[in-house]
Amino acid sequence: MRLEHSQSSSKIGARILIIEDESTIAELLRTGLTYEGFRVSVVSGGEEGLECADKEDFDLVILDLMLPDIDGFEICRRLRLRGNDIPIIMLTARREIPDRIKGLNMGADDYVTKPFSFEELVARIRAVLRRRGSAAEPTQLSAADITLDLEAHEAYKGGKPLELTPTEFALLELFLRHPRRVFTRETLLNRIWGLDYEGDRNVVDVHISNLRRKLGDRERRLIRTIYGIGYSFRPD
Ligand code: CA
Repeated sequence: MRLEHSQSSSKIGARILIIEDESTIAELLRTGLTYEGFRVSVVSGGEEGLECADKEDFDLVILDLMLPDIDGFEICRRLRLRGNDIPIIMLTARREIPDRIKGLNMGADDYVTKPFSFEELVARIRAVLRRRGSAAEPTQLSAADITLDLEAHEAYKGGKPLELTPTEFALLELFLRHPRRVFTRETLLNRIWGLDYEGDRNVVDVHISNLRRKLGDRERRLIRTIYGIGYSFRPD
């Protein structure tokens, strides 16, 4: 079993600075990203954020567009002006999408619109870190005879390509990053479908069932059902 990445990433996890004035979002991100092995700092103001980004050695900034003092564009502009090329992911509200181009022109690496699923944000963070060549981000995950190529977004079992939907891929990636962890349906819903998902709760079971079929996991040994709780990936 080769899963050094998930273990080592907790030791050498990338340092992330969150500049966000909405405390509920900031705390959600702090908790979630810390769990994912990142080292997280949170500030609520633009000026304070600029100071932090200049003084300390972060690997990535998550920057809210609308802040009480100076906005995200201005922070981006000032950082780049000072020659600071730290990767930046901008958080914007949906109504601010036309500003997207402006944000990217201002030097942001990517942007995520609120409301977002946590998994989507984590995927963007990892992609940006990989693009910037961060050693903390593997380009491949493997467990049992399953391999995910995260850059090409391809999955293999026993060397043979798997045809996965984006949702199945996201589920499998989550499982490979956290072998043996028991995920409740609620956690999977929140992480893959997003906090604002209001559809059928059975959607998780349907996708797990499809994923098992594609993995040839007829006996449900790889993806175990933990009765009354949820699911757990057991590659051993
Ligand atoms: Ca805000």
